[in-house]
Amino acid sequence: MFYNFPISSDKVKKIIYEKQYILYFCIAKELMALYGIDSEGIRKLDTLLESGRVVTVTAHTHPDGDALGSVSALVGYLRERRGMDAVAVLPDSPASTVRFIVPDTVPLLCGDVEPEACFARIAASDLLVVLDCNGFSRTESLQAAFEASPAPKVLIDHHVGPERDRFDVVFSTPDVSSASELLYYILLELPDIGRDARRLPAGTARALLTGMTTDTNNFANSVYPGTFRMAADLIAAGTDREAILADIYNRYRENRVRVMGYLQCENMRITPEGLAFIIATRDILDRFGAEEGETEGLVNIPLSIDRVKMSILLKEDKDHFRVSIRSKKGWSARDCAVRHFHGGGHENASGGKLFWPGDIATREDAASFLEQMSKDCLS
Ligand code: 5GP
Ligand code: MN
Repeated sequence: MFYNFPISSDKVKKIIYEKQYILYFCIAKELMALYGIDSEGIRKLDTLLESGRVVTVTAHTHPDGDALGSVSALVGYLRERRGMDAVAVLPDSPASTVRFIVPDTVPLLCGDVEPEACFARIAASDLLVVLDCNGFSRTESLQAAFEASPAPKVLIDHHVGPERDRFDVVFSTPDVSSASELLYYILLELPDIGRDARRLPAGTARALLTGMTTDTNNFANSVYPGTFRMAADLIAAGTDREAILADIYNRYRENRVRVMGYLQCENMRITPEGLAFIIATRDILDRFGAEEGETEGLVNIPLSIDRVKMSILLKEDKDHFRVSIRSKKGWSARDCAVRHFHGGGHENASGGKLFWPGDIATREDAASFLEQMSKDCLS
């Protein structure tokens, strides 16, 4: 029998929203404690923002979806809700695959394109905010300029080992999906938002949901109860998740699918200990015309094989390989990045670099280096 639901879907959304809103007030305290968002930190942050400052917001080198999402969300909020002079300054330009995350309304300066403008902006700022990295060291070419600034500094991040001493206000926990999720709960606590996601600017809500979705690989990893709660709140408040998914996953160039297929078929090796590795050399990347960001997600694929415990992707750069590492539960990608690749990251998703000459004599030695490392890390 056809049943005609008596109220419109907008009304249903509203009712669900109001119910969630009441529920959220009941659990907010516990969630804040879990994420280390203390009222003292919120008060300090609000005071810094209240004085109407010139703010520069930054994130790590080679910004991913979470870095761009959290930076865009915060800059959008500061400009739209607080009328502040907020600008995003990043060490590198976003890859074309994730450029859509930064809307035209968010002013962006990039260190690889206009370093002098970045330095001038940093020097003129009286508040600096760092997102999605544990300190200034991962801003590489901009590190010295940030560290030289006498302006107050705020850190909002989900990596281990925050450089607390360098910041005036720190919100940091590894027990959250993403910098975007942590920022979402911080924004909710600010008095002008008052725990009502509907008060966030639409662009901020969209950027936050996008950043969280990319860092969790669309809810596949690092997902917490708060992550679903955030998604539920933002969808109920009107954010279009389907449009976000289409932008993230369905707008690649054909080259991406072809180069990923080639590398999996021709270049993936698996060691007896269960390390899968793929070496994407410059000549293969060039042959397929692969651009920055177009191998995003490749490193996760070998983990679907039963006997694979850890997966490593090496991507050739000038005098080094950029290293991406993913691991299954019980095996530490982070330890591996710290011990062998001058890097870091999260327990099951990390990265670093492998230099030649230095770590290996020539780039042709990369495979034997990884085989040796596999015995070391996974036996
Ligand atoms: P991806 O493999 O997606 O580039 O990076 C995965 C994770 O490792 C991210 O959380 C990223 O911040 C971290 N990561 C990647 N490269 C480096 C690096 O060179 N140093 C450190 N400390 N972390 C990295
Ligand atoms: Mn992140």
